[in-house]
Amino acid sequence: MRHTCKICSPYPSGRTGDTGRSEEAASRERVDNVRVMPMRTGPGRTRAAVERMKLWENSRTLKVKFLDGDPAVQAKVRAIAKEWEAIASLELEFVSSGTAQIRVSFAEKGFSWSTVGTDALTVAAGQATMNYGWLETDTPLREYQRVVRHEFGHALGMIHEHQNPAAQGMIPWDKPKVYAYYAQQGWSQDDVDFNIFEVYSEDSTNHSAFDATSIMEYAIPDSLTIGSYAIGWNTEFSPMDTTFMKRQYPKDAPAVSELGVGGARLTADLAGAGEVDSYHFQVDLAATLVMTTTGPTDTVLTLHGPGDPGAVITWDDDRGRGLNARIVRKLQPGNYWLTVRHKTPGATGQYTIGIK
Ligand SMILES: [Zn+2]
Repeated sequence: MRHTCKICSPYPSGRTGDTGRSEEAASRERVDNVRVMPMRTGPGRTRAAVERMKLWENSRTLKVKFLDGDPAVQAKVRAIAKEWEAIASLELEFVSSGTAQIRVSFAEKGFSWSTVGTDALTVAAGQATMNYGWLETDTPLREYQRVVRHEFGHALGMIHEHQNPAAQGMIPWDKPKVYAYYAQQGWSQDDVDFNIFEVYSEDSTNHSAFDATSIMEYAIPDSLTIGSYAIGWNTEFSPMDTTFMKRQYPKDAPAVSELGVGGARLTADLAGAGEVDSYHFQVDLAATLVMTTTGPTDTVLTLHGPGDPGAVITWDDDRGRGLNARIVRKLQPGNYWLTVRHKTPGATGQYTIGIK
């Protein structure tokens, strides 16, 4: 008999990709997957928190392939997964042969899970990156919606909402009861720690505030919390889910703008909360370059490369004029990237960027 409260684990714990590709390689997909945020730790001292996102390149086509399963069940999964195309600027192309980034199986009964975003690239070819453990031809539509929207949220880079750093301390867990509850479903204490209690500290986040209505949140029964606190099953995308994913995968926006060394400065706008703007430039001859932002906005500038957008060379907050950033660096010939974000999460503003 099917458990009615079975929930998703992001990826079976203890299982690791065996392609030899590291998590760092997975973040190479996109330059703003590595986000540096300066944090003041004392007078004159700064350090930076690094968030490592798992987002796919904006506007790309992701191929999706079913490894097994009933064609009627596959068709339902496909129709619901396609809803993400209206939110994120990505195409989910379902293929029946050849290679695919997202590989869906129904073989592991009782467990539904997905890798998070570009982590799918670390899974060996031919192995599933997503599994549905209880979807049958007669499963209610709302259950399909809940699970498929959720698992494809993972596949596009979202984490569990209760593992968002902003959720820390928000849910009054009764830990012994949570261990006992999930033990009945075959989960070890480690599984519970990994999937329920562990909060991402230096990793991807969905939202700047905890969103109990997110499609990425589990149901939390009152019996597992101290006092009176419960969250029901979410089957719909929350407003914050759609806002967040539209910002990560914007439509009609160039993923990366081209910047010329010694060329004209570009004027740009951090128009949405949490926006990160990405620039590419090429160095033909080794030279000491000055990379600056100007304008009224407190920008943070990060230099990535050479050749690898996932590698951070350095970053700066306020070495420029006013609250602007300034990086001076001798660079060898190669490809480099700059990313710009606002110092204050949630704030917006205009700036210019240039390289001399
Ligand atoms: Zn999940």
